[in-house]
Amino acid sequence: MTASPVDFTDDAVRAGLRGVLLAWFDARQRDLPWRRRRSLYGTWISEMMLQQTTVATVVPYWERFLARFPDVYALAAAPEAEVLAHWSGLGYYRRARQLHAAARQVVAEHGGAFPDDTEGWRALPGIGPYAAGAIASLGLGLPAAAVDANVRRVLGRWLGAACQPGAGSDRQVADLAGCLVRGDRPGAWNEALMELGALVCQPRGPRCEDCPVGAYCGARRLGIADSVAVPEARPAALPVQALLVAFLAEGRVWLEPPGGPLIRCDVGVAPAREALGKLHQGLLTLPTTAWYPRPEKSACDLLAALPAGWVDAAGFAGAGAPRAVGRFRHAITRYRLLVDVAAVGVTLPETPGPHRDIRAQGEISSRPGRWVSLAEAPGLNISQLARKALRCCGDARG
Ligand code: SF4
Repeated sequence: MTASPVDFTDDAVRAGLRGVLLAWFDARQRDLPWRRRRSLYGTWISEMMLQQTTVATVVPYWERFLARFPDVYALAAAPEAEVLAHWSGLGYYRRARQLHAAARQVVAEHGGAFPDDTEGWRALPGIGPYAAGAIASLGLGLPAAAVDANVRRVLGRWLGAACQPGAGSDRQVADLAGCLVRGDRPGAWNEALMELGALVCQPRGPRCEDCPVGAYCGARRLGIADSVAVPEARPAALPVQALLVAFLAEGRVWLEPPGGPLIRCDVGVAPAREALGKLHQGLLTLPTTAWYPRPEKSACDLLAALPAGWVDAAGFAGAGAPRAVGRFRHAITRYRLLVDVAAVGVTLPETPGPHRDIRAQGEISSRPGRWVSLAEAPGLNISQLARKALRCCGDARG
């Protein structure tokens, strides 16, 4: 990495840069609920939600989460299923489980008092260097740097060279971040950097003509802003399709954890993925086929490929004819799912609880899950995929 054309070791340069960016942030920052109602707890929740998720998506989730779990005691006391239910739709559910585990740790080991330094936050589940720095600076006013991908890009451009993770540039970016956060309003400074990265210094096509700190930007001085720190192309999206089945009985629907036995479907192509597995751990969903590559099969193909006796093989009895009740699209990580939903009326077993054996002699002894009333289901910890599928069932009933 070449030397920066801007001398950030100069006190006057740093003071000028900080003043300009903080003034821009004060005037232009987005009105976000966790900024309006600043608290250590609210900051922590927002930072966990914002990992891998856009601000626009997070806002309503944060509002609902804080309304239901207004403090760490309420969060720690809640069952995990309820926490996951309030996270449903945000994806990356490991974050929710870690958040919950951290709340329980704070209450059990510290009487509900949050750590008062960066190291204390790092010791909690789900908190890495970035989150610890962000929470410590925003919530505690400590001069802790918070370098995520956005901030890395902005600082890399200021330094005037590409800053790829793992390269020697990591050290330069970390040094610059640590040096610039020292001063008053460290939290606002970190937020200003993030805001600049989100609104102006974007990954592709940075808006240098609107940038408040262009005079301090090495990449702009060198005329290379467009080519510096451009993100690598994301892995190609994988178009897949699947059939979700709503087994219905007396106003109830069968819900089960992901990773259970798949509905057999003889489509004649190898699956692209054996359905959800760990992706939706801790949530309930509907029985599903494997995920097949698109566009080889249409929805009708999937329904037609259900073999004779498939309902019985799945462990249900007294089936009527399956009906296609809807279709929707859904994105999970890099998979772009086209989901068809079939509803099948079956007989409610006499004994509730674990489902009956699905193969008398077979290797699978039971299908874990439970019957849930259709009215109750949306309030449970169900996956977003299942939520959309249940809406199709409701729409079909009219
Ligand atoms: S001048 Fe351009 S490249 Fe430099 S910080 Fe501003 S937007 Fe980013």
